[in-house]
Amino acid sequence: MINRLCIIGVGLIGGSLARALKQAGHCAEVIGCGRDPAQLQRARELGVIDGYEQDPARAVRGADVIVLAVPLGAMEGVMRAIAGHVQDDAVITDVGSAKGCVVTAAQAAFGGVPQRLVPGHPIAGTEKSGVEASFAALFRERRVILTPLAETAADAVAVVRGMWEQAGAEVVEMSVAHHDEVLAATSHLPHMLAFALVDTLARMHEQAEIFRYAAGGFRDFTRIASSDPVMWRDICLANRDAIAAMIDRFQGDLVELREAIVQGNGETIEAIFTRAKDARDRYCE
Ligand code: NAP
Repeated sequence: MINRLCIIGVGLIGGSLARALKQAGHCAEVIGCGRDPAQLQRARELGVIDGYEQDPARAVRGADVIVLAVPLGAMEGVMRAIAGHVQDDAVITDVGSAKGCVVTAAQAAFGGVPQRLVPGHPIAGTEKSGVEASFAALFRERRVILTPLAETAADAVAVVRGMWEQAGAEVVEMSVAHHDEVLAATSHLPHMLAFALVDTLARMHEQAEIFRYAAGGFRDFTRIASSDPVMWRDICLANRDAIAAMIDRFQGDLVELREAIVQGNGETIEAIFTRAKDARDRYCE
């Protein structure tokens, strides 16, 4: 049970976590923090938070769990703002979509990664942003990856694990580097492809005509291109090596497919599609 939960960044993820924990009766009080008072006021009206502070140093006062749910590019600034104001036994965690950069930010902001900081990432989300888009069931039956370091306190990991389980998620642990490689392949590359495809079509002369005929497949494939550009810019900058490696790999496979198409090599084309269909049917429902 959390006594006072402080959520810095009451948007889609932070707001959904607050809603889920309140619904589960797992926290007594939620204090929100952000830059826009109108958004925080709205979050309070929606019952997502009980009170708010715009100053992160004031927001973390008396909190036993602090969740950093801001864009990756804002993590270090927020950490610097709360350094020295967090109570000794408080647990800090984050929800950032890349983990190496969060650890680097913590080293810079706190002068070393605090033992009670547990980096985390819920593998759940939508293409929408902001507290209005948040909902309590977002994490239900979804995975949350925690990437504790060797020096991370075991009881702090247990607190964060318990928090996510109360929100309905299944918690797994892996190393920071492995997380960033896995997510580059499964989440970051698909977003790059969706953004790039829609951008290519949007810059074609007949764009209005093209989008008029965009049907189910196009919508399914490109939904994630409606995601927040700032958040995705930050993810690209934060996980640039792993994302670049995945783009290189994909580019090679796309060239191979192109060659098969140009050469009219139906056998290769069918083999690629069959391999892909089998994998998707096996791993995704
Ligand atoms: P969001 O809906 O845009 O929410 C971000 C919140 O952070 C906003 O409420 C914003 O409020 C606040 N914020 C931004 N800069 C700030 C700063 N410098 N100081 C304090 N508050 C600040 O974004 P989100 O989708 O919840 O993403 C938040 C984090 O979750 C990101 O790190 C992202 O990588 C991670 N994540 C996202 C998803 C997803 O699918 N969306 C999935 C997993 C993880 P103000 O503008 O009022 O400050």
